[in-house]
Amino acid sequence: MSDIIHLLADNVANQIAAGEVIQRPASCLKELVENSLDAGATHIRVIVRDGGRTLLQVIDNGKGMSPADARMAFERHATSKISQASDLFQLRTMGFRGEALASICAVAHVEVHTRRPEDEIGTRLEIAGSEVIAQEFAQCPVGTNIRVKNLFYNVPARRRFLKTDQTEMRNITTEYHRIALVYPHVQFTLVNNDEVVSELPVCSTKQRIEAIFGHSSKAFTGNLVDVMANTELVNIYGFVGKPEMTAKNSQQFFFVNGRYMRHPYFHKAILTAYSGLLAADHTPSYFIYFDIQPDAIDVNIHPTKTEIKFADEQAIFQILLATVREALGKFNIAPSLDFSLETHIEMPALSDQPATISMPRLQVNPNYNPFKQTAQPKTAATNWERLYPSVPAEQLGMQIEQALFTLPEINEQTPLMQWLNKYIIVPSDKGLMLLHQHRVHVAILYQELIEQFKQHKGMSQSLLFPEVLELTHDDMCTIQSLQDDLQAIGFAMDQLSPNAYTITAIPVQLGQANPCDTLLQVIHQVQDTGSNATQQWREAMALALADRMAIPLGKQLSDVEMRDLLVRFYEHHSSQYLNNGQTIYTIFTPDEIQKRF
Ligand code: ADP
Ligand code: MG
Repeated sequence: MSDIIHLLADNVANQIAAGEVIQRPASCLKELVENSLDAGATHIRVIVRDGGRTLLQVIDNGKGMSPADARMAFERHATSKISQASDLFQLRTMGFRGEALASICAVAHVEVHTRRPEDEIGTRLEIAGSEVIAQEFAQCPVGTNIRVKNLFYNVPARRRFLKTDQTEMRNITTEYHRIALVYPHVQFTLVNNDEVVSELPVCSTKQRIEAIFGHSSKAFTGNLVDVMANTELVNIYGFVGKPEMTAKNSQQFFFVNGRYMRHPYFHKAILTAYSGLLAADHTPSYFIYFDIQPDAIDVNIHPTKTEIKFADEQAIFQILLATVREALGKFNIAPSLDFSLETHIEMPALSDQPATISMPRLQVNPNYNPFKQTAQPKTAATNWERLYPSVPAEQLGMQIEQALFTLPEINEQTPLMQWLNKYIIVPSDKGLMLLHQHRVHVAILYQELIEQFKQHKGMSQSLLFPEVLELTHDDMCTIQSLQDDLQAIGFAMDQLSPNAYTITAIPVQLGQANPCDTLLQVIHQVQDTGSNATQQWREAMALALADRMAIPLGKQLSDVEMRDLLVRFYEHHSSQYLNNGQTIYTIFTPDEIQKRF
C-alpha cells in the first residue's frame, strides 16, 4: 500500500476525462449523434433546450441496447466497436474510444430509454454524476432515446465557461450540419426550444447541401459542379462551387471516411485549382468527401480535434488538385486554364468511361510542401511517420517535376520595378513575375502574427487617448475568448462595462489604423469561421490584422523597400495564395509572351 499515491475514484477520473471529450453542448451532441449513426439509425431527432444547457436529447431508431449493455455502455472504455489495438486500423465507425457516455454521465443527469428489435420490453436507466440512480424495464420504441439534462451541473467552472444560448446553439447547429452533410441517407430533425429548426429528409448529397445552405441564399442551387476521382490511393467525390459564387456564401468542407475534417494543405490544393478563376473578393466553396483505407489515415485522433493526418498527403494533394481543375474545366468554367499548371497536369479523359478505378496521370513534385517553413501541426500520434512510410510517387504512376511551385530566383542585380503603384514587376528566366504589393505584405505579416500568437513577442504602442470599444453580447463573448491572443500580439485592453472595453495599447505595426474598426473586423472574421478551434481563430485574426497593417495599394515604394519586401516574402512564404484564396503573385511564362508575337 502506497503512502501518498492512490488511484482516483472512477467518478473523479470520469469527470476529468469529461473535460477533454465534452467541452460544450455541441461536443456532447456530436458524440450522441455519432453513436446513433454507429447503431445504424435511419432517423435521428435532436432536441435542444436553452442552448443545450438544460436539455440535449437524441432519439434514434437504431439497434438499441440490451439491459446489460445499456448499463455497461456508461462505463469508461466500454465499447462494442473495437476489441483489440489492430481494430483501430480497420475502423469504420465514428466512435471507438468508449469514453463518450462515461464522460457525459459524469457531468450531467442522464436518462436513457432503449430497446432492441428482438426484445419485447426495453430498459430505462437513470444516471447522475456517474452514479446509477435507477434501472428498470420500460415500454419504449425500438432504438435509443437519451436525455442529457443540466450539463455540467456539478462542474460550475465549466458551466460558467459556456457562452450565450445563442452561441452554444450555433455551435450545435455547426456540428449537426457537419454530420448531416455526410449522411444524406439518414433523416435528421433538429428542434430548438420546441421549434423545429431543421428537417432534413433522406436525399442525395447534393440535395442535402442545398437543403442545409439553400435557405439562407439560393447560392448553391444549380451552382455546384461534380467532382469525382477513383484511384488506388483514395476515392474522392463531392462538389465545388462555380467560381462566380461570392465569398459571403462560401462554405468549405472536407470529410474523410464520414468524418468532418479541417485540412489546410488540401485547402491549398483547391485554391490552386481555382487559380486565375476567382475575382478578388471571391472564395471557392467546396464539399469534398475522401474515402480511403482506414489504415492510411491517423485514426488515433482526439475526439475534439478536426485535423487528420494522411499517410500520403502530397500524392492526394495532386490528385485533388487535378480532379477539381478537371471538374471546373469540364463544365467550361475554366475557359483558359492557368498556364503554370496547364503545362504540367494532364487531365484524365473522362468522356464516357465507366466509373472504374482509374488513376489521373499527374506530374508531382514530392518535395513540395507549403508548410515547410511553418511546420505542420502535429497530431497526437508521434510515431505516425514511422508507422506509415509514404509510398514512393513512382509507385503511383506519377512523374516527378521539381520545377512546379518554386519561385524564380532573385538576386541583388535583379532589376525591380513598381508599376501603377500597385504591382512589383520582377523579370526572371522563368518569366515575368507580377506581385501584388499589398498582398505580398499581408502574406509576410500573416506569418509573423501566427508566430507572435505562439511566442507572445508582439510589440506594443500605447495610445495617447484610450479608445472605447462598444460591443454586442455575442461580440463580447468572442473577444473574451480572443483576449490572450490579442495580448500576445500587442493589444492592451480593460473591460469597462458588460458591453465595452477600453483599448490602451495596440500592436506597433497597426500604425494609424483605427483600433476599434480593426478589432471589430477581427471579431467578425473569427465568428465567420464558425469554429471553436484556436488554430482557425488565429488564422482568421492574423489575416484580418495583416490586411489592416499591410502597405496599401497606391503607395509608392523605393527600390530598397521593394527589395526588403521581396526578401521577407521569399523567406516566409512559398504559396501563391493568401489563406482567403487571393492571388499574391502571378508569372507570365516566356511561352505565353511568345504567343503574343
Ligand atoms: P464508443 O462510441 O466510442 O464505443 P460511447 O461511450 O460513445 O463509446 O458508447 C459506448 C457504447 O454504447 C457503444 O460502443 C455502443 O455499443 C453503445 N451505444 C451508445 N449509444 C448507442 C445508441 N444510440 N444505440 C445503440 N448503442 C449505443
Ligand atoms: Mg461514441
